[in-house]
Amino acid sequence: MGLCQRWRRLRLSGLQTCRLHTAAVPAPPQWLAERLGLFEELWTAQVKKLASVAQKEHRTIKISLPGGQRVDAVAWSTTPYQLAQQISSTLADTAVAAQVNGELYDLERPLETDSDLRFLTFSSAEGKAVFWHSSTHVLGAAAEQLLGAVLCRGPSTECGFYHDFFLGKERTVRGSELPALERICQELAAAAQPFRRLEASQDQLRQLFKDNPFKLRLIEEKVTGPTAIVYGCGMLVDLCRGPHLRHTGQIGGLKLLTNSSSLWRSSGAPEPLQRVSGISFPTMEELRAWEEGREEAELRDHRRIGKAQELFFFHELSPGSCFFLPRGTRVYNALVAFIRPPDSDRLSSSLSDHAPSHPADTLALKPMNCPAHCLMFAHRPRSWRELPLRLADFGALHRAEASGSLGGLTRLRCFQQDDAHIFCAPDQLETEIQGCLDFLRSVYTVLGFSFRLALSTRPSSFLGEPCLWDQAEQVLQRALEEFGEPWELNPGDGAFYGPKASVSLLQIDVHLRDALGRPHQCGTIQLDFQLPLRFDLQYKGQAGAPEHPVVIHRAVLGSVERMLGVLAESCGGKWPLWLSPFQVVVIPVGTEQEEYAREAQRRLQAAGLVCDLDANSGLTLSRRVRRAQLAHYNFQFVVGQKEQSKRTVNIRTRDNCQLGEWDLTEAVQRLLELQNTRVPNAEQVF
Ligand SMILES: [Zn+2]
Ligand SMILES: [Zn+2]
Repeated sequence: MGLCQRWRRLRLSGLQTCRLHTAAVPAPPQWLAERLGLFEELWTAQVKKLASVAQKEHRTIKISLPGGQRVDAVAWSTTPYQLAQQISSTLADTAVAAQVNGELYDLERPLETDSDLRFLTFSSAEGKAVFWHSSTHVLGAAAEQLLGAVLCRGPSTECGFYHDFFLGKERTVRGSELPALERICQELAAAAQPFRRLEASQDQLRQLFKDNPFKLRLIEEKVTGPTAIVYGCGMLVDLCRGPHLRHTGQIGGLKLLTNSSSLWRSSGAPEPLQRVSGISFPTMEELRAWEEGREEAELRDHRRIGKAQELFFFHELSPGSCFFLPRGTRVYNALVAFIRPPDSDRLSSSLSDHAPSHPADTLALKPMNCPAHCLMFAHRPRSWRELPLRLADFGALHRAEASGSLGGLTRLRCFQQDDAHIFCAPDQLETEIQGCLDFLRSVYTVLGFSFRLALSTRPSSFLGEPCLWDQAEQVLQRALEEFGEPWELNPGDGAFYGPKASVSLLQIDVHLRDALGRPHQCGTIQLDFQLPLRFDLQYKGQAGAPEHPVVIHRAVLGSVERMLGVLAESCGGKWPLWLSPFQVVVIPVGTEQEEYAREAQRRLQAAGLVCDLDANSGLTLSRRVRRAQLAHYNFQFVVGQKEQSKRTVNIRTRDNCQLGEWDLTEAVQRLLELQNTRVPNAEQVF
């Protein structure tokens, strides 16, 4: 039977509205009731079997709890939840899953052997994954009940969850259906239905999911052993490895967000699927706070700010490359100028300044700077006296990002990086790393970011000499200790090793937080042993023999474009003076002062400041001041009769603070000082 026919049959069996349901919720389809009946049968059998195993064995096992305490438990009977209750009721209430000897476990799943027990809460990334993964089952159950959906897959994502299901080849899920779907999800959550874990044989699996061709295909393709795990929760039965929450009542707040289409791409012909996404939290308060945060984030979205302030735009003729308008270029150049002067001290003799100042000017499609810098190192014989050799570059880089992944300034096909490479002798490593860390701190402090450092150590499948790695790890650890900021160790565990790291790198990850406390990953410091070998880079050592340098890759802003986006959102369009594309607007009180206002504007512009003139006499003075403040001009210079005759300006800030009358020359001087020192709050300290 084709999916279409099957679906029609399901719909027909499901659509007689049940009198017990007051809302427009159809009675559960027949197949749903059948499946649930079989599940209950198998569940009762499993409960009986477990109880008898526990009784027969009656074995005491040792459990080590978080904090080091060790307690006794009964095999096949004691659950992590019971032990959490012994520790504290808060822990028992907030735990979402357990970790037993490193394996993720349901809180209600009986322990089997001596175990090292940990608990996951919503506060950790893994805890969130369990929470959202459980929530997507609730969404699936609601889709089955309301829409007669044939469920396909429902993963957690970085921020929430989605569920893909089949509604028939023609039918799509409409945005107008989300509120009803959401209501059912909330009812299911309020019903506090337990998640029940059942081990089922291949035959039982095929019986349970006989009405779901997707699950049947999954069973065929993915279930290799004699049994697999299914979970029951309310009317839902789903093929899933788990773990899940104890019950749906732990989901205090749930919101559905989007509906879209997707595709089933397993073996066989692709099938059109419907996707609904959502987010959930342990409490309603957390959901509300998230919603507020999202509204704020939407207001602060750099794409919105970029459009409103005419900083940049994108064009379909060149997707993934940003067109900076004059005001955006102003911010961009201020940022590059900020990162460049310290670079030319630090990256002294060999600053490679051949890069064109605008991406559009270059014809080369260079994806990264490392090889170019290696060639520069190698282009003539090098001596130990030249080390450390520091090369920096702002050249345009190009990456073939998929069109689906492009979004604003976050991911581009064409961008610039503040990319530096330091070629040094092994004994210079520590000083150089310290220099990089100091530089990083000085830059982030000015930008108003806090940051956290993490050292990723070598993966288990590393290349090269173990003793070289040991030494390098020690050097990095010493440099981090010396630096004095808190840092953590990410042991190079193969499974948890990020895709960015390759087996030839040691890396200091920089997790920065913007003014809103949101995390970003921009800068990086990487130590590379492989690159000098690959490019056969050598220098003449002190003893006269050729030696290989070590390479440090270092970026502080990362992509300048992306950093500009991060900064736009971080300040919400209220740029600090030194980056601001809206520094000053001169507002003449009447038409008689326009000439003087123009002169003041010219003076400011000649000093290199961004200055506009608002001589629109159609609006009252207070309306124009208000308009300037809404446009986030750091300062408004109002000039009337008195100011004109005394060659002064009357200054207000964008927060409507009146700074009074200033001599024009002195005001320009003061603005330049504040710009050059890059103070974050020029309006307050003027
Ligand atoms: Zn699941
Ligand atoms: Zn590099």
